[in-house]
Amino acid sequence: MAIWNFSAGPAKLPEAVLAQAAAEMQDWQGKGVSIMEVSHRGPEYGQVADQAEADLRQLLSIPDDYAVLFMQGGASAQNALVPLNLLGDHAGADYIVSGVWSRKSFKEAQRYGRMRAIVDTAQPGPQGQAPDNWWPEPVAVDPNAAYLHLCSNETITGLEVRDLSPWRAAAGQVPLVLDMSSHILARPFDVTQVGMIYAGAQKNVGPAGVTLVIIRRDLLERASDLCPSVFNYAKVAADHSRLNTPPTYGVYLCGLVFQWLLKKGGLRVMAQENAEKACLLYQAIDQSAGFYQNHMQTAFRSEMNVSFFLRDESLTNAFLEGAKAQGLLGLKGHKAVGGIRASIYNAMPLAGVQALVNYLQQFQAQYG
Ligand SMILES: *Cc1c(COP(=O)(O)O)cnc(C)c1O
Repeated sequence: MAIWNFSAGPAKLPEAVLAQAAAEMQDWQGKGVSIMEVSHRGPEYGQVADQAEADLRQLLSIPDDYAVLFMQGGASAQNALVPLNLLGDHAGADYIVSGVWSRKSFKEAQRYGRMRAIVDTAQPGPQGQAPDNWWPEPVAVDPNAAYLHLCSNETITGLEVRDLSPWRAAAGQVPLVLDMSSHILARPFDVTQVGMIYAGAQKNVGPAGVTLVIIRRDLLERASDLCPSVFNYAKVAADHSRLNTPPTYGVYLCGLVFQWLLKKGGLRVMAQENAEKACLLYQAIDQSAGFYQNHMQTAFRSEMNVSFFLRDESLTNAFLEGAKAQGLLGLKGHKAVGGIRASIYNAMPLAGVQALVNYLQQFQAQYG
């Protein structure tokens, strides 16, 4: 039986990547040792890390005036590290609160400065949308804010922002800081629109333990003296993400994923595949006559995390049990919202989504 893993994170990795990692596990490129077992200062790991950075730069067309960092601590650590590194002389920063993850970012950051939630979607939206299921219209950004933080894909509700331009305009000179943990590399993205991006690797990039940071170099000089050195962006950048021992095996695996993406044709190809997969699944939900429901504002439906509910929520457990029996794993919704969530990141092929759609129809035929 084919197994399809829809886990939100840590999430499925491409099969070809796992196969290559398995083949190289004990003997990396004829060295007789695993890449895991060598010095992070030696030429072997140096080659892996440099290639990974170069490939990520190629995938996202990252210009030289942006630094690429491979850090640790997950996206959650960045909630503190962003203010510690970027506040500088500024009293505070502005936050868009659009769901569970951006709310956490906002709360943690409040320990470091005067943070303002300039919008908060905890209230029902303008058309009466459920809390956290809508995206706000731009409002005034404080021109003295150190940055404007937003989470461009809220993983739990499945709220994805694909067009930043209205907020880009509202922010003026204030740099945008994006939590892109659950959709980085899903499609081409112009990094020059933003001051900084961070992303935990375990959703759409690689294994847990690596955190990507992409930051405009002029923002590197603002860090507080209280920022731990290993989390100081300027210091990490100066040492090419080898200030202390990095998560070497995780970076190696991320590098294999970058190569896999390049071989597939890059992010334009991924954008097409992701749109096709998401379209298929949302269509199945929309054509179920309300048996399955997705509450997200249509333009902001995530192509990565498809969160939906059964009209009769008492059937949710039966749905999940039946799915598991057919090899469809990781579909339970986040405890904050319940229901079902299918995470269909880059590593999920169309065939996996087709298998899920078949199951949706079969389950509805049985219980509808
Ligand atoms: C998963 C997730 C996080 C938390 O990531 P950790 O690596 O566990 O700290 C933060 N933001 C978003 C958008 C996420 O999807």
